[in-house]
Amino acid sequence: MDLSRIRIVLVATSHPGNIGATARAMKNMGLSSLYLVNPKDYPSGVALGRAASALDVLDNANVVENLESAIADCGLVIGTSARSRSIPWPVVDPDECAEKLVTVSKENEVALVFGREDRGLSNEELQLCHFHVQIPTNEEYTSLNVAAAVMVLSYEIRKAALRYIDEPVSDNSQTASDSEKNEDSLEDIWDQPLATVDDMERFLDHLETVLVRLKFHDPDNPRQLMPRLRRLYTRIKPDKMEINILRGILTSTQYQLDKKPENKGK
Ligand code: SAH
Repeated sequence: MDLSRIRIVLVATSHPGNIGATARAMKNMGLSSLYLVNPKDYPSGVALGRAASALDVLDNANVVENLESAIADCGLVIGTSARSRSIPWPVVDPDECAEKLVTVSKENEVALVFGREDRGLSNEELQLCHFHVQIPTNEEYTSLNVAAAVMVLSYEIRKAALRYIDEPVSDNSQTASDSEKNEDSLEDIWDQPLATVDDMERFLDHLETVLVRLKFHDPDNPRQLMPRLRRLYTRIKPDKMEINILRGILTSTQYQLDKKPENKGK
């Protein structure tokens, strides 16, 4: 079972013990790739102590400055949240979350992102994700400790991997519900690599530039245009070739605008 293309990302963790406990949970479930975005107190002896026999996960962890750099090369990103947020976003349950991560990671780097102990992930961080996942907890107390949330979702990943990696998809012995699940998971197998977060950010910047130039978008009165377009394009999960086509259309639009005599010098 190769889960090396599935990374766990912890954003701005305050307590180093949670980083150690995350490493331990990951290793128990066969995950090895950990990214720490701007941790408050790290490296730390407390993290080493809580990691127990998962010191290798900490040794190999990548420490980066912001979420974008932790996920730039990923084709699928799922963000976790203990509660629903202002702009509705595509949501998956823990089971679907694990299934998507496992199937898409056969061909692409993928990430599961966890937030700060006190405030979770910001709206901007959540909007970098293709899906959000919420562990269905007691409505009277929804928020788990972050390392406990890592444990629950890593266990789901392991269960999905046992189902989808080790069992061939064409196995006739599967039950009806298993075969439905396998059909769903085939959606995620594609002829092209998925556009990465970096491709998507560069496309959205390009789109915004052209929309401003066309006077469709007023940066002084932006409303929710860019977040809504971000949600639209993120939802379709374009592949690299599709993003290149869209970028080509934008470049042609700019070229045509440049050619018009009345636009010269604008
Ligand atoms: N008050 C914060 C709670 C953060 S809990 C908030 O409302 O977002 C710290 C982190 O643990 C979260 O950012 C998330 O990554 C994870 N977490 C906690 N409870 C969760 C749940 N029910 N489902 C998914 N992730 C959860």
